[in-house]
Amino acid sequence: MPAVNVENPLELPAVVKPAASDRPRRVKSITTAPRGFEGEGFPVRRAFSGVELADLDPFVHMDQMGEVDYGPGEPKGTPWHPHRGFETVTYMIEGTFLHQDSIGGGGTIQNGATQWMTAGAGILHIERPPDALIDSGGLFHGVQLWVNLPSKLKMVSPRYQDIEASSVSLLTNENGDAVIRVIAGSLGDAGGPGVTHTPITLAHVTLMPGGQLVLPWNAHYNALTYVLAGQGTVGLERTPIEEGQMAVHVDGDFLVMGANDTQDSRTRALEVLVLGGEPIRESIAAYGPFVMNTKAELQQAFDDYQAGRLGQIPADHI
Ligand code: MN
Repeated sequence: MPAVNVENPLELPAVVKPAASDRPRRVKSITTAPRGFEGEGFPVRRAFSGVELADLDPFVHMDQMGEVDYGPGEPKGTPWHPHRGFETVTYMIEGTFLHQDSIGGGGTIQNGATQWMTAGAGILHIERPPDALIDSGGLFHGVQLWVNLPSKLKMVSPRYQDIEASSVSLLTNENGDAVIRVIAGSLGDAGGPGVTHTPITLAHVTLMPGGQLVLPWNAHYNALTYVLAGQGTVGLERTPIEEGQMAVHVDGDFLVMGANDTQDSRTRALEVLVLGGEPIRESIAAYGPFVMNTKAELQQAFDDYQAGRLGQIPADHI
């Protein structure tokens, strides 16, 4: 899997070990993400489907985009659309997306880069493959995560951040058979480049066959592991988990996961997205592209969008 890789993980710093008094988190649930379509029809897996909102908080939605191998002319994106009340994080593992928005943000997201968009009070944006990739087809694999904003920040000014693949913090485990890419927040004493209104940690872990990993985790954060590819286990009790499944880990100071000794032909390692954050614990009224606290605020968001108050498509739009 492209993302960011290293020839010799043993050269990386090892993630800090839990203290003797720390407790492992327990696996509360394993769910399987159903398949669906997004935007103009690109295939996704709805990672959070079937999970209680309280276990997801501060996250509200996550799609695994692909992995799909497009033929010529097949790659798809989204039309221009609005958002309000949360932040979107787009992590491209393989393939390329172009982004443009109504506040002048824009750029190319590819090969391990992340784009962070704070919709806040309102933004319009478009995400689509570049023309050359539409013509040629090719592999496409990424993740889009929605991070909620607390009521006091829902109407904050929109903001756009490009996080280059080279700026993520890289760690390994004790045996050097893991690559841990810290995209946002902190893991032990390592920090990632993403700047978030809501405190979170987001990391992409590659664990070689037979590898075991213990990750320190903020006891106040929720904890989710979503398998992007491969087969393995989660928790000290070694509950099986595989591609397209998500585990909720509760109560404790560290997470445990393992990669099966043999992986299928499509992946050489277990690939896991690990994420968690500080729960917001407020009521959620969400519909389509808006995530608010009340139905009245949702109605206001639709009214504001219809009236053009969430932004305008720029004249030089892609
Ligand atoms: Mn969007």
